[in-house]
Amino acid sequence: MKKVIDVQAAVAVAAAEAIVAKTQGTFGVGGAMLDQFGTVLKSLHNNVIRQGLVFDPTAHGERQLIDWYYAERAKGTPLPEPQDITIVTSLDPCCMCTGAILAGGFSVMVAATDANAGINYDSSASFDALPEGLRPQAQASFAYPAVLGDSQYARAAHGMAPKSFFIGKTIGEPTQALCSLVFEATAKGAMALFDSDPPRSRLKDPATLSVKHAIVCALKKVYPEALTVRCQPQKPDVQLVPALQTAMARDKVMGGKGDAVALLDSFGNLLLCMPGRRNKSDIRTAFMECTRAYAQLRYKLMEHATPEQREEIRQYLGHPKDGTFVFANGPDDGALSFMELGAYGSTMEGELPASNPAQFQYVLPALPQRELEHICASMPPLYRHLIRIRPVQVADAALIAALS
Ligand SMILES: [Zn+2]
Repeated sequence: MKKVIDVQAAVAVAAAEAIVAKTQGTFGVGGAMLDQFGTVLKSLHNNVIRQGLVFDPTAHGERQLIDWYYAERAKGTPLPEPQDITIVTSLDPCCMCTGAILAGGFSVMVAATDANAGINYDSSASFDALPEGLRPQAQASFAYPAVLGDSQYARAAHGMAPKSFFIGKTIGEPTQALCSLVFEATAKGAMALFDSDPPRSRLKDPATLSVKHAIVCALKKVYPEALTVRCQPQKPDVQLVPALQTAMARDKVMGGKGDAVALLDSFGNLLLCMPGRRNKSDIRTAFMECTRAYAQLRYKLMEHATPEQREEIRQYLGHPKDGTFVFANGPDDGALSFMELGAYGSTMEGELPASNPAQFQYVLPALPQRELEHICASMPPLYRHLIRIRPVQVADAALIAALS
């Protein structure tokens, strides 16, 4: 077999994508997908921010590469099985991307580490941030190649050894430095954009708008039942049953296990309730669809709007941290749930308001509350210290009974 690529050359492809991401004004992270011979199948970059607006909080490089892979397979493109695919990334995968990688069974090769949100945040390659059952798989599929040199960017190889198809097995020091620096140069600014929404006290109730208002029309185009149900703020109740059951049934039709996630705004209005689209991609779960649909709804409304109109859109369609995500099924200790916990973190990207301690609620538990809390408390620092992910069961017994 003719070997075609060095570790260094593969990382350079990811680094070049990271620079494109920085130029776009989003998180400076890039990645590439390689087949079992080292051929680059696809390269792309982070796409969370476009034109200074949050476009898609889930559009990290690795997550997009995996969705690309499944979309191509669904179209009939002959691609190797996931175990023969290597994802090369300029930055250590976050929890969302790690969950997606593990759920699919891909291998990954990582350049820069991320002490805040990376799954290998402590550079031990022990993966203690994962639920216990997922750690052996990560240890056997995440590679952190050696970086030779004397600078702070040098390191010993850890994790899995780079796949045998690579010619050279090390990353050049300047390329490793580039991967780190491009991310560091963008992280703060991109995170701040998640925090540019008005506080809860200045939010306005979309249920008071005329049915012909552009915001209501756009919302109903995404989800026709929007604004037809109103719970008490942060108190999802039995009124959500028809919406959740409809989405759960659709999720099954589209290859899922009957999951659904609803989003309520800070007034208790039902904005969205989405099934997954597992027929399109194994990682398109209900929460991924729901958070993405809401972000893109806001983006499309704001894209060509004046500053005054943008402010109005942000007031009527507030940041989800002031609302409530309602999961029909609570997280378990598997890879897809870990991906969703991570994607929830990527949706928030900052400290949650103390006035709303229950942005993440579920109806049916998959794990005892203590075990769920343990999983969240073990996540990398960004998730456990800043965002403090804290899923809780809904309080309404009638809602629980209806879905049980
Ligand atoms: Zn990620």
